[in-house]
Amino acid sequence: MKLDFSKRKAIQMGIASVAVATTGFLVRDNTLESSVEKSPSLLNIEDTANNKALLKTKDKPVTIHSETESAIKDNLNKTVNFDNTFLEDIFLPQEKINVFQSALQRIMRVQKTIGYANFNLVSFDNMILYAHRYPKIGKFTKAEIALIDELFFFDANEYGFYGNKVIQNLTSEINKKETIKISGSGHYLFQGDALSKFNQLKKDVGPDLVLTSGVRSVVKQLQLFLAKLDSSNGNLSMASRSLAPPGHSYHGIGDFDVGKKGFGKFNFTSKFASTDEYKKLIELKYVDLRYTQNNQIGVRYEPWHIKVV
Ligand SMILES: [Zn+2]
Repeated sequence: MKLDFSKRKAIQMGIASVAVATTGFLVRDNTLESSVEKSPSLLNIEDTANNKALLKTKDKPVTIHSETESAIKDNLNKTVNFDNTFLEDIFLPQEKINVFQSALQRIMRVQKTIGYANFNLVSFDNMILYAHRYPKIGKFTKAEIALIDELFFFDANEYGFYGNKVIQNLTSEINKKETIKISGSGHYLFQGDALSKFNQLKKDVGPDLVLTSGVRSVVKQLQLFLAKLDSSNGNLSMASRSLAPPGHSYHGIGDFDVGKKGFGKFNFTSKFASTDEYKKLIELKYVDLRYTQNNQIGVRYEPWHIKVV
């Protein structure tokens, strides 16, 4: 498959940026576009590490002696400042923005039409069928399918996500019979380990612990990733620091998210780590978090995401 996501230099922003000072390739926003064509090979992590870089932390440059150490710090810096733009960030090419927008809007219409709960489990083939069947959704265009395909099969390492690909097929299906809907949540859990872990958690933490996201099909993960990509202005690297790309989410094979009842959107922020529910759950011996504070996967700290698999 032909992959042509462009490697664009991002504008250096504030304290979160890592400056590669030795090569003199650092560009400002006014030279952004012209430098893109000339130096595309600059934009990968290895290059950054090989440059024996100055890691700039706030105003004090720190010299990093080991290239590996530099790469690790660089990675951690990015996961802590996940919402910032970095020099090496990779963007969706400008010419794909329109088709990206139309694909995202169409997927959102599928979700609205079949309902949020059903959408959590919907397969790619069924999404295409629904779009075909309901005029208010409208058929996916060839270009939209091609973009979805390309995003799914593109090597996420290229834009800075280092987690495993746990689902290999875009058309992989969730067997609904292997799941159970958790009442009052609109979410599902896989029967077996996930369900028993969640039930045990509710027992040990208390009734205010709720399921905020359970089983997600490839399509559900795709919708979340595209929406994140949209709010990240097409920055694939930034999006993947907050959300595993489709095919890479353990929600597809067992993991789930928990929160505090009534805490709303804050359940998906670091604020969750200040709740009593979090303090209780983290002390339980059987609880592991998927994305820890020092992870090298390229993902922000997620105190709400329970590892099952
Ligand atoms: Zn999660």
